[in-house]
Amino acid sequence: MSELQHSVRVDLAERGYDIEIGEGVLEGIVDFVQQRHAVSHVAVITDSNVDGLYADAVADRFSDADIETHVLVIDPGESSKDPEVAHDLWQTMIEEGCDRQTMVLAVGGGVVGDLAGFVAATFARGLTFFQAPTTLLAQVDSSVGGKVGVNLEGAKNMVGAFWQPAGVLIDVATLTTLPDREYRAGLAEVVKYGVIMDEPFFAYLEAQADAINGRDSAVLAEIVRRCCRLKADVVEADEREESGRRAILNYGHTFCHALEAATNYTRLLHGEGVAIGMLCASRLAERLGRIGADVTSRQHALLEKLGLPLTAPADLDPDELVRLMWRDKKVSAGKLNFILPSRLGEVELVADPPVGDVRDSLGLGG
Ligand code: NAD
Ligand code: MG
Repeated sequence: MSELQHSVRVDLAERGYDIEIGEGVLEGIVDFVQQRHAVSHVAVITDSNVDGLYADAVADRFSDADIETHVLVIDPGESSKDPEVAHDLWQTMIEEGCDRQTMVLAVGGGVVGDLAGFVAATFARGLTFFQAPTTLLAQVDSSVGGKVGVNLEGAKNMVGAFWQPAGVLIDVATLTTLPDREYRAGLAEVVKYGVIMDEPFFAYLEAQADAINGRDSAVLAEIVRRCCRLKADVVEADEREESGRRAILNYGHTFCHALEAATNYTRLLHGEGVAIGMLCASRLAERLGRIGADVTSRQHALLEKLGLPLTAPADLDPDELVRLMWRDKKVSAGKLNFILPSRLGEVELVADPPVGDVRDSLGLGG
């Protein structure tokens, strides 16, 4: 393995699998799959942006190895994470002769991964599933952990499953074509890992900010490895989100979900909401006397250097955002929990902080 190539083992007993990370590793995808699964038939699921860039070439590699291959292309974007699109894919798979022996390979971002994984989990009661994520968010977050699913009207990820892949192959070279905003949105989740569980990693990101902005592939491979390892640690401890450990991954997300809802999921990319939400959560921790201002200012400086938005859109009404957060609470019929830093590299769950402090942490005045 070259120094640019890394391997992360997700240790989940009989559902354990490898994540292989490197530059140019997609060239070896057929070997990667064959080492782990006796493949005779592949359904490659992708979106129309990624098809021409990568998925088509991936499919050719399987065809060239005399493996029957079909490419199923969805429209790009969150609206494809829909039961009707899943239905279309099931139907197409029947028409293409897919059966229990077919393997599903997701080539794309988190939308493709979540949808293809859901189709893999359900078609013929479950097919072997591999992932080749092509966005930074998918490489550091959505392709690890086995959560797959689709959205219902007004309820994200409402129908789904835990369906672990048999392997994940991450080619950081695919990130060279990612639009700037999508790239930066993925970086917000990267920064999140440092804050919630790894201060040395946070310091590494600070030191490498210029290389990150330049999409240096060696630095990206190291970042993806580290994030996959950190998420795998959490998932290994709490595969099905039962012990509460997995909740630490939601740092910044309670604020983020309110920001996304208040802007109708159109103005902010998820990662942008996470960046703003982490700063809100950090300010809340400050207000509650849990951390000093330095913890927030280091996050602020790093997120700023990485080109992420830092403040909630000024036209939003703080009372409306608070209402949206507490509406979520009713849905879950529990307390409104916040994941808050106790220092850089460690977070704690804080239940039901005072509404006034939450409101003031939004930074919207009023
Ligand atoms: P996405 O899949 O919509 O991809 C973003 C855009 O980038 C799309 O237009 C896509 O076509 C394009 N694209 C993808 N790869 C490209 C490349 N290499 N070059 C150029 N363009 C490329 O969005 P995303 O941010 O990757 O994923 C978001 C989804 O992930 C959400 O639905 C979210 O719910 C889900 N998610 C799931 C988990 C999980 O645990 N399963 C975790 C986090 C997020
Ligand atoms: Mg997220």
